[in-house]
Amino acid sequence: MKYFEDKQERAKFNAGALLSALFNELKPEDPVTRSQSISPSGLACQVASAWKLQGIQTDPTAESFASRSFAECGEDRHARIQAFLSQTPYWVDIEEYIKKKNLDLEVQERQGYEVLLYSPKYHARFRLDGMLLIDGVYYVLEIKTERQIANDQRQEPAEKHLKQGFSYALMLETDWIMWVYEGRDYLSQKPIPQRVTKEEKAAISEYLLDIVQYKDTPEKLSVDKKSCGSCEYKTYCRAYFKELKKEAKQNG
Ligand code: SF4
Repeated sequence: MKYFEDKQERAKFNAGALLSALFNELKPEDPVTRSQSISPSGLACQVASAWKLQGIQTDPTAESFASRSFAECGEDRHARIQAFLSQTPYWVDIEEYIKKKNLDLEVQERQGYEVLLYSPKYHARFRLDGMLLIDGVYYVLEIKTERQIANDQRQEPAEKHLKQGFSYALMLETDWIMWVYEGRDYLSQKPIPQRVTKEEKAAISEYLLDIVQYKDTPEKLSVDKKSCGSCEYKTYCRAYFKELKKEAKQNG
């Protein structure tokens, strides 16, 4: 008789639902002002880069244990891949490479295997995943983690990552990028070397310099509407363009 009573009581309380709610509980995070520099990893919308350069505060966000997981998993895999590659004869010390090539790049910080670099010309600040020297050719290393289904089909770098890779090749003065795409289920690596053409470098240079030149008049820059949904400057951006439209209407 006691057995049936206990079972009934347990059935009333759903411990799984409680834990699930805890993993997914969103906690508000304060708006932040990011460094006033261009991030090559966020180049899809020129206007968003202009807001960052202006030092505009981001929208408040909310994060849960679950929502942070992809980013944390990516950071962990980056560190492990870098640790492994740094033990091979192909790993390049980026600081020494910059000195040797006399590049217009400042080394602002070294953290783990990553180096924080700043380009005064392009007002760009970025952490490079690494550099490799294979058979006399320098590659900028860019590691990406992704869904397994995407990784299984991957034959070439994702379109949305190209501007980032081109920027690195431009600023590090290399002609090659070594993309390493890793699927999250099987954790197998897919290295894809890509040659960057002179035209691609010239185009990304112009793209970056335009952001610097027109940061205070972002209406002259290009927008990427596909990025609006996840943009951290959405509120400010919408208010700015609304005001601009209003003024244009008033002025006839
Ligand atoms: S809201 Fe859209 S247009 Fe505005 S900065 Fe963000 S991505 Fe660009």
